[in-house]
Amino acid sequence: MGTFCSVIKFENLQELKRLCHWGPIIALSVIAICSTMAMIDSVLWYWPLHTTGGSVNFIMLINWTVMILYNYFNAMFVGPGFVPLGWKPEHSQDSMYLQYCKVCQAYKAPRSHHCRKCNRCVMKMDHHCPWINNCCGYQNHASFTLFLLLAPLGCIHAAFIFVMTMYTQLYNRMKIILRNKTSIESWIEEKAKDRIQYYQLDEVFVFPYDMGSRWKNFKQVFTWSGAPEGDGLEWPIREGCHQYSLTIEQLKQKADKRVRSVRYKVIEDYSGACCPLNKGIKTFFTSPCTEEPRIRLQKGEFILATRGLRYWLYGDKILDDSFIEGVSRIRGWFPRNCVEKCPCDTETDQAPEGEKKTR
Ligand SMILES: [Zn+2]
Ligand SMILES: [Zn+2]
Repeated sequence: MGTFCSVIKFENLQELKRLCHWGPIIALSVIAICSTMAMIDSVLWYWPLHTTGGSVNFIMLINWTVMILYNYFNAMFVGPGFVPLGWKPEHSQDSMYLQYCKVCQAYKAPRSHHCRKCNRCVMKMDHHCPWINNCCGYQNHASFTLFLLLAPLGCIHAAFIFVMTMYTQLYNRMKIILRNKTSIESWIEEKAKDRIQYYQLDEVFVFPYDMGSRWKNFKQVFTWSGAPEGDGLEWPIREGCHQYSLTIEQLKQKADKRVRSVRYKVIEDYSGACCPLNKGIKTFFTSPCTEEPRIRLQKGEFILATRGLRYWLYGDKILDDSFIEGVSRIRGWFPRNCVEKCPCDTETDQAPEGEKKTR
């Protein structure tokens, strides 16, 4: 508490001038960018908040930022402590042992030195630091050192998050390349299994482009010439499949989607904001990481959802006929807590017609 009081007890607001210098501007920008990036990165891509580890990780990141900034501002604004102007030793005969500073019109107390940047005699002066735009000395030696200790620890944590995100991305990419898939095709395959299971069909979906050998799959993407194999239109396929096995499955799923989409009623307005502030912290932080649009909702409207995340749904607005004339469809993401499932409505025939891919 004592230290905290010393932070807010600025001698005067002129101390804030210390911020107007390249040192603090660069240092604070780096702290702000690194901590914001690490927080966004870990929540959106690496360690989501709804897991215990994710929450602890997030709190730790906030903790580093707060502690780093606390010690940084402490070092800057509390400062090193200056020898009072006109200072003399208690016993005047001791002045014979001391140097005199003409600028401060005072004797230089033991361990103090005159700083030309601060234009004052600094108690137990260590050095003048441009990054805090102040001297490091008697009063801020501890906070300055703590800042130097905490900043790299915070950076190591942030670097760990960045490296793990990249590694996870690389791992996912390699996993699908070795199976000769794309992320979209993995999703189609998953839906194919789901569709077959849901209708208890006697089909088996075989992904047609997996050559059955990781090395063969790998060679389709990475070649010595640098150019990928083939012309991008026709693809080598495994035995028992034909060129259109995948597209046929896609057509089946598209037809199926209309039957299996779920109707929702809007119970709360939503502005269409990417990360809405008033729909709960989890909705805010788990906003889908995609360029797909969000749709504005108004209480009383109906939506046909085709897929969803824990806190978000994706679907089409059910438009009345007069509206359909001008706009073919309004489709996008919206928060789950703004809608409510319509009762007994897993089978609906109200799917919007005229399906046209807008992408
Ligand atoms: Zn001086
Ligand atoms: Zn100085």
